[in-house]
Amino acid sequence: MTVQILINKSINRMGLVHPVVKDTAIELVKRAYKEGIYVLITDGYRSYEEQAKLYGKGRNSYIYKGTEYGDPKSLIVSNAKPGSSNHNFGLAIDYVLANADATEVYYTVNDKYKRVAAIAKTLGFTWGGDWSSFKDYPHLEMMGGLKKEDLQNGKRPSLAINFTPTVIQEEKKDPNKIVNKKLVNFNPSNEEFFNATSKVLKRFEEKSVHGEKAISSIHREKLLNRELSLDDAIGILYVALERGLIIGPKESK
Ligand SMILES: [Zn+2]
Repeated sequence: MTVQILINKSINRMGLVHPVVKDTAIELVKRAYKEGIYVLITDGYRSYEEQAKLYGKGRNSYIYKGTEYGDPKSLIVSNAKPGSSNHNFGLAIDYVLANADATEVYYTVNDKYKRVAAIAKTLGFTWGGDWSSFKDYPHLEMMGGLKKEDLQNGKRPSLAINFTPTVIQEEKKDPNKIVNKKLVNFNPSNEEFFNATSKVLKRFEEKSVHGEKAISSIHREKLLNRELSLDDAIGILYVALERGLIIGPKESK
């Protein structure tokens, strides 16, 4: 999982939020990522109609502009009518934490969740978890000093970026890297090398023909003295494979 996956998903879910809210949310995702916390933004801008639909959940009837939005089969999810949520002005976002591959999300208000809220506050967000009347833990917003009535009357805050964007260098996946790593670990100074080479030499000793016993005993001595080189070991392995003393995985055709 890369930070770019989290950012792309978050941008899609935020929609038409204020550009400063959007850029700050992306910065939040990056800073949390650097601490090993995977943040996904699940909500951003909501039209009045979308808000009416949300408010109607869990209510027998809610009519907005002549349309019935009541949805008694659901649970109540919001107490905000259209125009009373800062989501309606593109100034609020909601977040969740994700597992390592972003296949599961959770809202549990644990230490990591609170840590994200703390980072968000340093970036200029107000956290719904700090509210006294109704705690809205996933909620972050930027009012820019304006009151709700100002926003309802059409005023918009002048927000500004107040951080230096974090740059995250993602490691490119190189399929050869694992092989290289394996070879680096396989060197004359470690046990893996000793055990593997011993095993191959044993085959020579058991199945030797012609002068191979002499060859293997020289190598055995070198190995025991820890003087056998990686080149020697590869040479032994090559000959062993050639003679069928050891069997490798079948070649795929
Ligand atoms: Zn919210």
